[in-house]
Amino acid sequence: MFSLLPAALFSIILAAAVSAKPGLSVTLTGKAYIAPAIPALMALLNAGPKEANGVGALIVTAKIVNTGDVKLQLLKDPRTVLNPLHTDTFLISNAAKKAPAFRGIKIKYSPETVVAQKKASGFTVLAPGASVEVKHDLSKGYDFTKSGAGAYNIVPRTAFEFVDAAGKLTPILATAKGTSVTLKGKLALRRVPRTSPGTTPHLGRRATFRGCSATQQKQVTAAAAEAQKLVDSAVKYLTVPANQLPKSTPRYVAWFGKLDFGRHADVFVNFQNMAFEKFDSYTYDCSCPFDEAFAFVDARRFGTINICKLFFTAKPKGSNSQAGVLVHEASHMIAGTQDFVSGKNAAQGLAIRDPNTAIQNADNYEFFAENEPALK
Ligand SMILES: [Zn+2]
Repeated sequence: MFSLLPAALFSIILAAAVSAKPGLSVTLTGKAYIAPAIPALMALLNAGPKEANGVGALIVTAKIVNTGDVKLQLLKDPRTVLNPLHTDTFLISNAAKKAPAFRGIKIKYSPETVVAQKKASGFTVLAPGASVEVKHDLSKGYDFTKSGAGAYNIVPRTAFEFVDAAGKLTPILATAKGTSVTLKGKLALRRVPRTSPGTTPHLGRRATFRGCSATQQKQVTAAAAEAQKLVDSAVKYLTVPANQLPKSTPRYVAWFGKLDFGRHADVFVNFQNMAFEKFDSYTYDCSCPFDEAFAFVDARRFGTINICKLFFTAKPKGSNSQAGVLVHEASHMIAGTQDFVSGKNAAQGLAIRDPNTAIQNADNYEFFAENEPALK
């Protein structure tokens, strides 16, 4: 009967029982209750200088603290402040609720792959009470030209994931504490000019490579050709007269949700622009320093797709393929998509739950284009 009582209650009852009349015998059966371990996390920004003279001085240190009572094996996900990559990991706004434009990196990262690989470099492990500090240079990701000089409130994003005792990837929301900084002087870094103009006449152009071996160039060239085929066929699939949207479009619905004229038109235009830009007009840079990523694009280098280590472990075509990764990256560059969710299940769930977000999510474009298993 005591088996489900919390420990505290257990001891009170026990004390009461023991202090009862002498001679009364108390027999306890069942296991003592063990309080559930509670994973908890806090992400805060250490207060730095109150004033930043120029965006280059906008450097903040994020501190991630394990405030729970279990050890946390956290993903060093580049979409969190645990990773110093200049992705969109902060919520920044001024008193007028204006936010800077994000001009940093969007990365194709696969939590499932990192968990499967079990490499220590993919994780940050924090014992209860332990913390880690990660420095972030905000000038690499944010452009304050439009939002202007003045005081900004900076808060880290709070969605993290950890591998639980059973080896399962589990989401955890941190409590957050931000900081405020007054920015003056220079409001943005200069953009790097495009190295490979994609709008020149397209006649047997070859992609430009940087830091890629001959073998890598071969693989990327093949993937780029396949990616072009994927977006061309996506455009073909989506080309329907406005008043004649097909009644049954399982492929569209699977990745972009409930059929809606406006959304369908948006997706069509995005694929059309991706097809027009041509995958062999890009610069492919293989000098990516991140082992746990497939590829990334940096908004300050339009026209360059950075190819990372995991890219070369993916199959050439089909689901989660090299060709698909290029479609994913092109959707960031051309259609301004985000990485709201990653992975097939999450992308499909998003399409059902929130089609307006699904049509802005890079993986949904990738999986729609890959179309494996093929849907009509
Ligand atoms: Zn991405």
